Amino acid sequence: MIKDLVAKRVKNLPPYLFVGISKKIAEKKAKGEEVMSFGIGDPDIPTPPNIIDGLFKAALDPANHRYPESEGLPELRRAIADWYKRRFGVQLDAETEVLPLIGSKEGIGHIAFCFIDPGDVALVPDPGYPVYAIGTSLAGGHPHYLPLLEANDYLPDLASIPETALKKAKLLWLNYPNNPTGAVADLAFFNKVVAFARQHEIAVCHDGPYSEVAFDGYQPVSFLQAEGAKEVGVEFHSFSKTYNMTGWRIGMVVGNPVMVDALKRIKTNLDSGIPQAIQRMAIEALTGPQDCIREHNEIYQRRRDMIIGTLSKIGIEAKPSKGSLYVWAKVPPGYTSIGFADELLDKVGVVVTPGIGYGEHGEGYVRLSLTIPDADLMKGLHRLAEWRVVTSVAEAAK
Ligand code: PLP
Repeated sequence: MIKDLVAKRVKNLPPYLFVGISKKIAEKKAKGEEVMSFGIGDPDIPTPPNIIDGLFKAALDPANHRYPESEGLPELRRAIADWYKRRFGVQLDAETEVLPLIGSKEGIGHIAFCFIDPGDVALVPDPGYPVYAIGTSLAGGHPHYLPLLEANDYLPDLASIPETALKKAKLLWLNYPNNPTGAVADLAFFNKVVAFARQHEIAVCHDGPYSEVAFDGYQPVSFLQAEGAKEVGVEFHSFSKTYNMTGWRIGMVVGNPVMVDALKRIKTNLDSGIPQAIQRMAIEALTGPQDCIREHNEIYQRRRDMIIGTLSKIGIEAKPSKGSLYVWAKVPPGYTSIGFADELLDKVGVVVTPGIGYGEHGEGYVRLSLTIPDADLMKGLHRLAEWRVVTSVAEAAK
């Protein structure tokens, strides 16, 4: 093989969190063991039938067999703008302030190349979705981590960011409802973020794919509802979690036209857009019946309560999340997050995600996803209770 072929930026990449977990699951399954996974946040319920019908119809139309427009169908951009108006009261120009993405992860990764030059800093939540920091590093920048602490309701303390980081910072990443903590942010917080961004001239990227996944009657807000938000930032959004469309790969970024245009310029040079039939599905998702959102949230809320009920019975602390697809639970004393996740997988075949995978401040926690089918959920919870009995017996025998 050619010497030193692989670039440093690739060599320096940490393994993607879920790749290691998937490998461990595959090893267990290969041994014939049954594994119950509370791992990845990938909706188990299929995409609603009206949206699939939209795909079938669109697939038959030869117009959708050709290269799509990189910037997305005008009808899709209009449908996204109309949805933001209906849902959040946010006015968007479908020509300049809306850009469909090949899933929001793609745009989140690429936007670093628009604003981060080597040596620049991006302010990144810790714990947080790994792509904010990875995109920053790939573009030659440095993530400066903002601890999300329980004591602060998992909101970053913007006032405590050191001057040295602020001076070099070009972007601030935020994500509410939050992965992995399940925390939410209100408009008062987003108003403070806009003031902070103006004061320090830092652009905001709010990532909001879970805005429609919320419980106990709570309705998450959009960052763009904050006064002046569009002057300083954009919001990433996705069809993945709202309409159970993770497999179809479609999302969007909306907001500041300069930022949207910069991402469009990168993307038109790197990709050729989202398959048009999938864009048509997305239009159906936004304009068709919306009952699936309430129905899915009822299912997730029931699962959340069952998980928290079992965790509390076995002495594991977790607060009910108001939004997102996750329960963020404290690991029992004496374990690291990886140690606890490994123990559950080895002893009772249950997969949870170790909090350290989301950053240093995720240590001490594990994340349980609500996207586990009901039958597996029941088995998984039963096994968690079994784990407690087995470990209690072992401890008593010491
Ligand atoms: N942002 C957050 C916080 C996520 O948790 C995820 C997926 O889990 C994404 C973005 C990516 O979503 P997608 O690329 O499917 O739109």
